[in-house]
Amino acid sequence: MGVRRRTTETARKRLYAASQYLDKKVKEELGLLIPFTVYLQDPLLAKNDPKFGFDKEHLVRWEPGISDGPTSARFAIVDYNGDTGHLAPKAKWNLKKEAFLDPAGKVLDHKNTKPLQFHQVNVWAVLQMALTFFEQGQGLGRPIPFGFEGNRLIVVPHAGYGKNAFYDRKSKSLQFYYFDNDEGERVYTCLSTDIINHEFGHAVLDGVRPYFIESCLDETGAFHEFMGDMTAILLLLRKNDFRKKLADSTDGNLSEAKQLSGIAEEFGKAVSNNDYLRTADNNLKMSDQKGSGPHALSEVMTGAMYEILLKLSEHYLDNSDNTARDAYWSAIQRMQRVAIQPLDLLPPVDVTFEDYALAVLRAEELANPTDPHNYIETMLKIFVKREILDESHAEAMREPRYVYARLRLKVFHDIDNISRSRAGAYRFLDDNRDALLIPAIQDVFVADLYDSQKLTREGRRVPRQIILEYLWRENVPLTGSEFGEFRGQSTTMLCGGTIVFDEKGTVLSWARKPGTQGGRNKAWKEEIAIGRKRREALLENIAHRIKSGQVGAVLGGEKGLLGTYVPPVTVRELDGALRFERTPHLSLSGEDHDHYQGGRSWEVSS
Ligand SMILES: [Zn+2]
Repeated sequence: MGVRRRTTETARKRLYAASQYLDKKVKEELGLLIPFTVYLQDPLLAKNDPKFGFDKEHLVRWEPGISDGPTSARFAIVDYNGDTGHLAPKAKWNLKKEAFLDPAGKVLDHKNTKPLQFHQVNVWAVLQMALTFFEQGQGLGRPIPFGFEGNRLIVVPHAGYGKNAFYDRKSKSLQFYYFDNDEGERVYTCLSTDIINHEFGHAVLDGVRPYFIESCLDETGAFHEFMGDMTAILLLLRKNDFRKKLADSTDGNLSEAKQLSGIAEEFGKAVSNNDYLRTADNNLKMSDQKGSGPHALSEVMTGAMYEILLKLSEHYLDNSDNTARDAYWSAIQRMQRVAIQPLDLLPPVDVTFEDYALAVLRAEELANPTDPHNYIETMLKIFVKREILDESHAEAMREPRYVYARLRLKVFHDIDNISRSRAGAYRFLDDNRDALLIPAIQDVFVADLYDSQKLTREGRRVPRQIILEYLWRENVPLTGSEFGEFRGQSTTMLCGGTIVFDEKGTVLSWARKPGTQGGRNKAWKEEIAIGRKRREALLENIAHRIKSGQVGAVLGGEKGLLGTYVPPVTVRELDGALRFERTPHLSLSGEDHDHYQGGRSWEVSS
């Protein structure tokens, strides 16, 4: 840590707006970044390998509202135990020491980890850094909304006894459970950096694409799991201390780094006697994991992106005088952009691995148009090998501007008018229905509209992006006997797209989920053919879930889903049609088994 000057709260408030232009070292000296102590990974790893024990330089952005709890603008730690009914006292914020204190007034750091209040600070500090990771320019370059009404995520570090942790939209919370392992030691999921970051990955994705939860597709559920695991890996490798030790112990060969590729080590050891819960270091293809549920399927994409990370670190090591430490830092900075920035390009609903892979490649083109090191080709090959993309994508991708060439707008709108309001964006959509392949009879609406200022790895600006997401609902009758008690009713299929413009109004990317209605020309026919396949998949999925008893009524009252068992899919009636929704409750494991028993269930997917 540099020499820290005493900066008063008033001075910090004055510097707050300018802090985006200040370098990390200066921010530390001015007290705009505050160091906290957190577990590098989890208590088991800290015990087994003390050099991977604590991160004492975990820097958290100062903000004006930090207070007891901890509480900050986006997080409130509420240490209520649903099993015991116990509400633990809050960690106390001490302005003078710039630290949180336990009830006895002692600073909570690596020398004082026993009090529950250390757990509260640990989970809060990890989340603060994770939020910065998504919001900074090398991430999404904009503030992240949550997928619920309100802006503060409630975090319950000791929710009760169980082998689980989850994000739950309805109660606006992250819930962390604890359990005793075979040696009789208590394992706290709120002390596992991987688990915290994984669950937060769900919360972020639910905020960025809230309609994914309505999808019945296994791949959309798997994408949620991938985001969780990818978040955990990238955030771990961003830790200076961890990265340096890893560089020294692997001598630049990142593929040997089991501490990095293994996710949730302590939890995995305790629940399944594996060295981790899941691993990113795999060679899985789509056909290997077909029909095996979201957690297992997610490993294909996690494996593909991890392979890209390894390729990047090899590249940075080979192509210059970089030390292993430098190479890892360059690779992780680049990987943040490669993995996170494409999220803004995704369609608003039913995301598949193919959609994400195409978004990754397009985002790379935008940030790195000349691509002197052929990164796009490298990534493309990995996606094809894993059966996420196929050769036809590869051929099309090599044609310049292949997707975007199809969008020929007839009625021009000033980008300022489109981006100023949802009503303005709607006029643009309505005036261009034919070019945008939006059926004339459908009531299209703007699902979201925002802009972002993304940066390259070197901190250069990527053109400002204006992102427009639009949707409509197509009515789908449930006619066969396979729909059981729901036969004769109808459901809806969400259709729509995401258009990304630059500041001049040029379309940078256009991702779509078609319906089954529309015009007669060639473009429409191709679109409708895809829409029909989507409808078939939707009906098949609903029938399968009804048959296997996965569909249940909406549960949970005021407190949301706390402590209750939840079916994987819920159904409710809205505007005369049924809505089948993936339960907005994304757990660490076991939420998506084809068979489940009633009662409280925390089984682990393997
Ligand atoms: Zn998960």
